[in-house]
Amino acid sequence: MSGMNVFDARTIFADLAPVVLYNEALSRHTTMRIGGPADALAIPETIEQVEALVHTAKSRGVPIFILGRGSNLLVRDGGIRGLVIKLGDAFSKLTVEGRELTVFAGRTIVSTAHVAMKNGLAGLEFAAGIPGTVGGAVVMNAGAHGGEMKDVIRAVQVLTSNGLIETRSVEALQFGYRTSSLRDSGDVVLGAVFRLAPGDTAEMQQKVKAWNVRRQATQPLSYPSCGSVFRNPAGDFAARLIEAAGLKGERIGGAMISELHANFIVNLGGASAADVISLMTCARARVRDEFGVELVPEVRVVGEDGARG
Ligand SMILES: Cc1cc2nc3c(=O)[nH]c(=O)nc-3n(C[C@H](O)[C@H](O)[C@H](O)COP(=O)(O)OP(=O)(O)OC[C@H]3O[C@@H](n4cnc5c(N)ncnc54)[C@H](O)[C@@H]3O)c2cc1C
Repeated sequence: MSGMNVFDARTIFADLAPVVLYNEALSRHTTMRIGGPADALAIPETIEQVEALVHTAKSRGVPIFILGRGSNLLVRDGGIRGLVIKLGDAFSKLTVEGRELTVFAGRTIVSTAHVAMKNGLAGLEFAAGIPGTVGGAVVMNAGAHGGEMKDVIRAVQVLTSNGLIETRSVEALQFGYRTSSLRDSGDVVLGAVFRLAPGDTAEMQQKVKAWNVRRQATQPLSYPSCGSVFRNPAGDFAARLIEAAGLKGERIGGAMISELHANFIVNLGGASAADVISLMTCARARVRDEFGVELVPEVRVVGEDGARG
C-alpha cells in the first residue's frame, strides 16, 4: 500500500478508536524526539478497538506498525505510511495472583517491575531502568544486569494479523539476544504473564536504586536517545569499540555520539533521523576499518527516508 493519503485515513479509521491523529509527528512519540509523520496514529483503549483497527487496515491493504514508547526506535524523517497503533492508558492494567503477575502490554516495564517488588516478587528488577512498555520489552527481549524478559515470561497474549487472539508459550516466542519471533510478525502483543519468585522488597529496591544510580552516572540520560544503538558483538562491547575508534563526541547536525557512553547517540536539539543514520554509518565504517568488527544495530530503524512534501 503506498497511496493512502490523510483524507483516506480519516474516512477509514475515524470511528474505530477514541483517539485517531492524522499526519501526527512521531517525534512526539519516540524517546529520541525524532521521526516524521504517521498517516494515522490510533490510540485504542479496548481489545475490540485493536481488533477493529487491525481488521480494517488489513482488509484495505493498509500497513500497520505497532508503537510502544518508541524507546528503541529511530523513525526516519519521511515518517510511517499507513496506520500506527499505540495502546492507550487502559492497556496498563495489572493483577498479581500468587507468584504470577499478569499485565497488559501498554504499561511501562518500569512500573511493572516496581509493583512486582512491592508485592515481594523477584525477577523483574533488571527491567526497572528500561524505559519501554511491556509489549516493546517482550518483542525486544529487553535485558540488563544479566537478566532478560525470557527468564520471567510464562506466556504472552497476542492478536494475530488474522484477527485471532492467541496465547504463546515462551518456547514459541524464540527469544534471542534482543529479539523474538514477535519482531516483524504482524502480531500485536496485548499482555504478558510473568512467573516470579519470592523476594525481599527492601533488598530488591536497594539493588534497583544502586543500578539506577549507576545508569545515571554512565548513560547520557539528560538528552533524548534510544539507548544502545548497536548490539554488543560476541565477547566485546560496541561502546568500547566506538570509543577506541575515537568517535566519542562526533557530531553530525543535531546528533552526537555521546561523550559519556559511546554506544548512545544523543539528540542535542533538532537532530534529524538522517543525522543519526549518518553517524551510525560513520561508526560502523570506522569500527569495521580499525577492528574488522561489523556492528549490528540494536535500534529499530523504520519508516521512509526524507521529509514529506
Ligand atoms: C535511556 C534508554 C535506556 C535503555 N536501556 C535499555 C536496557 O538496559 N536494556 C534493553 O534491552 N533496552 C534498553 N533500552 C531500549 C528500549 O527501552 C527497549 O528495547 C524497550 O523494550 C522498547 O520498548 P518500547 O515500548 O519503547 O518499544 P518501541 O521502541 O516502541 O518498539 C520496539 C519494537 O517493539 C514493537 N512493539 C512495541 N510494542 C508492541 C506491541 N504491543 N505489540 C507488538 N509489537 C510491539 C515495535 O513495533 C518495535 O518493533 C533503552 C532505551 C533508552 C532510551
